[in-house]
Amino acid sequence: MKNAFSVDLEDYFHPSEVSADAANWPRFAARIDIGTNFLLDLLAEHQTRATFFILGWVAAYHPELVRRISEAGHEIGCHSYHHKLVYSLSPTEFREDTRQAIETIEDVCGLSPRLYRAPSYSIVSNSLWALEILAELGFTHDSSIYPIVHDRYGIPGFSRRAHSIQTPSGPILEIPIATAHLWAHHVTPVGGGAYLRLFPYRYAAAGIRHINRVERQPACIYIHPWELDPDQPRVTRGFISRIRTYSGLGTMRSKLKQMFQDFRFSTLGAVYPVPAASLVSKAGVG
Ligand SMILES: [Zn+2]
Repeated sequence: MKNAFSVDLEDYFHPSEVSADAANWPRFAARIDIGTNFLLDLLAEHQTRATFFILGWVAAYHPELVRRISEAGHEIGCHSYHHKLVYSLSPTEFREDTRQAIETIEDVCGLSPRLYRAPSYSIVSNSLWALEILAELGFTHDSSIYPIVHDRYGIPGFSRRAHSIQTPSGPILEIPIATAHLWAHHVTPVGGGAYLRLFPYRYAAAGIRHINRVERQPACIYIHPWELDPDQPRVTRGFISRIRTYSGLGTMRSKLKQMFQDFRFSTLGAVYPVPAASLVSKAGVG
């Protein structure tokens, strides 16, 4: 079974814990090439395509990198423009940020993103209105809802499986990140980020195998380029944030290489095709 492999294309200073103010970003020395080049080489070696959720700001400041990703045949998605948490925005602000990201990505690589991932999985119970705006802007897939309990994101009890959500602007296919259902209401993520960094690789591998073999579902995995750059400057403040951001960076490359030996991957669009009926209704709307 093929699983979905996704990259949130942002630099080490984009996470909200580091610098929420986009006006400061140009002052940081860019390192996004380091992790992205590792990923592009790994994907090429395994003849695998992935989905890259592009931060609009990255498309504006690193257009050649985004073009290289697109020309290598990878799927282009959208990771907002300013990396603002969706639940901190009004619907109007969210629409504007998303439009700006779409236009910038289109200018750079000539493709309209149809898949969206919110910064820090910030589509939560009180920001579900964002799905209607995404459908209105032409998105067919969203991968922004984490079905877990976490202090900053997640909708506990939300479906752990890919499913279509009806909005007044049309349907959108929601693709949750891979999680394992341990017992009762306890759900743990296995799909990437801090969890892949902090725990031994065998936990992630066992989780993906369980999703594939027992639940008979593909797993959706995610990673950031900065997680593959162990020499990045340590700029995050606060003990918990530092652990979340920097622990396990030294082992990520070897974990990922092993994951590509053990599992097969493709893009979100290929692993979770849009039902034909909703494509027809999208065409009708336009
Ligand atoms: Zn992000």
